[in-house]
Amino acid sequence: MKEGIHPQYEQTTIRCACGAVLETGSTKKDLHVDICSKCHPFFTGKQKLIDTGGRIERFKKRLSVDKK
Ligand SMILES: [Zn+2]
Repeated sequence: MKEGIHPQYEQTTIRCACGAVLETGSTKKDLHVDICSKCHPFFTGKQKLIDTGGRIERFKKRLSVDKK
């Protein structure tokens, strides 16, 4: 059996600078991010963002897909 060819896709905890902890799946463990869906201006509504080409929609879609 050869190991290490396929990256491990496992449950990952993402910790944000705002203190939020998100569960997702990733090939990396224990990610740290500076911004997340809870503190991102688009979601908090504190600041207006221009959604160019559905970037935010894709971002949200990716997040939901990762949660599977
Ligand atoms: Zn955050």
